Amino acid sequence: CGIVGYVGLQSANPILMEGLRRLEYRGYDSAGIAWQSDGEIHLLRAPGKLHNLQARLPNTVSHLGIGHTRWATHGKPEERNAHPHCDNQHQVAVVQNGIIENYRPLREELIAQGCVFRSDTDTEVIPHLLSQYLQNNYALLEAMRLTVVRLEGAFAIAAIATAAPDEIVIARQQAPLVVGLGQGELFCASDTTALINHTQAFLSLENGELARLTPLGMELYSFAGERVRRFPERLTWSP
Ligand code: GLU
Repeated sequence: CGIVGYVGLQSANPILMEGLRRLEYRGYDSAGIAWQSDGEIHLLRAPGKLHNLQARLPNTVSHLGIGHTRWATHGKPEERNAHPHCDNQHQVAVVQNGIIENYRPLREELIAQGCVFRSDTDTEVIPHLLSQYLQNNYALLEAMRLTVVRLEGAFAIAAIATAAPDEIVIARQQAPLVVGLGQGELFCASDTTALINHTQAFLSLENGELARLTPLGMELYSFAGERVRRFPERLTWSP
């Protein structure tokens, strides 16, 4: 299971696919990507190996996207359970590694409020929660902060939203997530090997941290909403 994300001047989808290939060693049963173009979120998901996804990948140019390889914990390895997951308005797309322990009460609460669930995953509560906060005019980062403080379990999350066409928001609690810093572009991934061809400058999220990534840089915060300041580290790859 793995996560990858890209925002910047290159075309996102080939970078996402390459990142997912480099994360294959972690094991997975299905995969998917979401990208933004023309103000809309597009999804492509497939059970099985990555070539099932690659075969259906359109030739769209996008500068923002997230990708996922899934190791199912809740819900069978079918297309409908593959990540990314969206809200009902299709304004948000989310990938997640790990388990949301308290997804049942959250799911019941969201269904009572009118949300329609389209998967059997624990993950799907996240896009619905994000969407509610966005509809209440919170910015994507704050929507993510308000969402993660309601989640119990181990998770790494990446999300994109039509309201923020140049942003990826990520959060980490007991599951790995790193940011790769480039020139005019930022990456995120479950580990540095996913980004081996793209950058040597990395910053690892700690537990209880979330970040906003744009082509101009990143901002790091604690789940309490305090700004965190830390220097990236250089990683030199041995041939
Ligand atoms: N619990 C989530 C699911 O079953 C994520 C699993 C993973 O880490 O890939 O969809």
